[in-house]
Amino acid sequence: MTSTVLGMTTSAAAQTGADGTIAGDGTVTDRLFEANERYAAQFEDPGMDARPVLRVAVVACMDARLDLHKALGLQLGDCHTIRNAGGVVTDDVIRSLTISQRALGTRSVVLIHHTGCGMEAITEDFRHDLELEVGQRPAWAVEAFRDVDQDVRQSMQRVRTSPFLLHTEDVRGFVFDVRTGRLREIDPA
Ligand SMILES: [Zn+2]
Repeated sequence: MTSTVLGMTTSAAAQTGADGTIAGDGTVTDRLFEANERYAAQFEDPGMDARPVLRVAVVACMDARLDLHKALGLQLGDCHTIRNAGGVVTDDVIRSLTISQRALGTRSVVLIHHTGCGMEAITEDFRHDLELEVGQRPAWAVEAFRDVDQDVRQSMQRVRTSPFLLHTEDVRGFVFDVRTGRLREIDPA
């Protein structure tokens, strides 16, 4: 097994033990569940329906350093957020966008990749290594990339050319700089 499997950046804030415990009692999930108790205690039903207020779907990398709502000034209920490793437009992202547009009324698509993405550190060898380890080749592509700008362009193209989507006029792509917090727009051409 090569080290390419562990390409993602980890948090510097939480000290996580080998058994999944963090500083204090209980597992990470226990801590999250307890945090939800405090959240729910102050929660007021906003009375919204499921249709995003701004009629926008944001497709972004799952990277822990990208706080989409803060970075884009979004409020609860404003948008759909669809995230995966790399913010790549896979068939499953198209599935979510199709439901977002056809069932829940969104009109615009925003794609966000970022600097220092873990997907730049791995290659398609990842699949080969997995196959060697577990004896089964995954059905999905790794979708690793070398040039983040080019991958944003390819993602925009996949959205624009999807036969399932109703609205492909307002599709824009950006790279988020994890050091400055700033978005840089990518020219689709
Ligand atoms: Zn990433």
